[in-house]
Amino acid sequence: MSLFQTVQTPALTYEQPLGLFINNEFVKGVEGKTFETINPHNEKPIVAVHEGAEEDVNIAVKAARSALNGEWKQVTPSERGRLLTRLADFLERDIETLAAIEALDNGKGVTMAKGDVTASAGCLRYYGGWADKIYGQTIDTDTNSLTYTRHEPVGVCGQIIPWNFPLLMFAWKIGPALATGNTIVMKTAEQTPLSGLYVAKLIKEAGFPPGVVNVISGFGRTAGAAIAAHMDIDKVAFTGSTLVGRQIMKSAADSNLKKVTLELGGKSPNIVLPDANLEEAIEWVNLGIFFNHGQCCCAGSRILVHEAVYEKFLELFKKRAEQNKVGDPFNTETFQGPQVSQIQYDRIMSYIKDGKGAGAKVITGGDRHGSEGYYIQPTIFADVTEDMTIVKEEIFGPVCTVQKVRSEEEAIKVANDTNYGLAAAVHTTNINTAIRVSNAIKAGTVWVNNYNTLHYQMPFGGFKESGIGRELGSYALENYTEVKTVRVHLSQS
Ligand code: ADP
Repeated sequence: MSLFQTVQTPALTYEQPLGLFINNEFVKGVEGKTFETINPHNEKPIVAVHEGAEEDVNIAVKAARSALNGEWKQVTPSERGRLLTRLADFLERDIETLAAIEALDNGKGVTMAKGDVTASAGCLRYYGGWADKIYGQTIDTDTNSLTYTRHEPVGVCGQIIPWNFPLLMFAWKIGPALATGNTIVMKTAEQTPLSGLYVAKLIKEAGFPPGVVNVISGFGRTAGAAIAAHMDIDKVAFTGSTLVGRQIMKSAADSNLKKVTLELGGKSPNIVLPDANLEEAIEWVNLGIFFNHGQCCCAGSRILVHEAVYEKFLELFKKRAEQNKVGDPFNTETFQGPQVSQIQYDRIMSYIKDGKGAGAKVITGGDRHGSEGYYIQPTIFADVTEDMTIVKEEIFGPVCTVQKVRSEEEAIKVANDTNYGLAAAVHTTNINTAIRVSNAIKAGTVWVNNYNTLHYQMPFGGFKESGIGRELGSYALENYTEVKTVRVHLSQS
């Protein structure tokens, strides 16, 4: 099978790389296997890409190690920054192509996908700006010593990303790792390998030396597991399910105790209090759960509404959700496309069935949308109780529950009654209430009168079982540097 293929999308035609990207070249996998990636809009294969497994990971790690100790080491911090900003420029140059790839492979609306490209370019440029501003400290302990710290790269970083934001997660991961001088073995998600391979091509074009970024298309249980257990990978960064996050941590512990950062699941509460501007709150609640078809780890899937505005809220929210344009990702008006895969579709539909069976009331949705593709109607459940599975478990689809609460205290208690702690929101026009509630909620991000407004300058990550470490902002740099203390004894003669 060849290493490139012309792909036709409803928007444009482009050249898709298909190989594994190792040492700045597209190559076939050692086992010679390929796998198909499916278009979730029509359930048909798009292309087959080469599949990487353990032996390919080993080769990629060797390439990354040799770049780390060789050419990449000689690249100055300013030049690293220039490479990152050049890559950001190329993402923007190819925005139409990248957005089309995401719409095709992931199913997200092409307009939303363009937003992802812009945010990815912004993220890379932001970390490009950091590259020559990574400093240690000078520490005075006594007159006989000079002590200083160096912030050195951790080394070879394994990065495992999910399918919900294929391009954006790629950018979030490589940005801080490259700014701080690391090298990378990236495994993209098996459902969405295409944008990562296209960016690999841009990485080469931008002028990154061979081996600095290597991209493996492959499956979690083979290529992913090989990264987590590898003895010559110094750090693993993972975004995905809590279940797999636990396995990665175990593998890291059982192998070489590589550093671990995890960005995992959530069941985030979105609180609407009686003094909220209800119409604005509903816009954010709608975006909070239905953005990206509910496939966001920080989705505001548990909506907690004060009893004083509960009925009104349900009436307006139903109306708003029913206006969401569901359909073909290549229609520029589309807000919600198909779910990414048959497996995800089936999982979500089984949660919907479970909710109905448990006696939750369907306010809107509750069924598939259309007859082809993995489309699901925006679904709102009300009259739910805390013990229901749909209230407890992450559904990762366009499905939310609305719970009635009687007070601010109860809202906080219910909000925190979860093993997760990724994000939350509170809608109120009282600044004191806003700050009080934000302080009381155990979550990595709290939005006040908005939702899902992530930004590469702002740290993002989870309390509790939602993760370890922070991505984005200056905080992410800490995950990618080792602090070395150098104490120099000063001779008195
Ligand atoms: P989802 O269930 O939403 O697909 P996963 O957590 O399974 O989320 O997948 C996220 C990423 O983790 C993907 O790139 C996937 O291939 C990878 N992955 C899955 N299982 C493992 C594993 N056992 N070890 C390492 N990576 C894995």
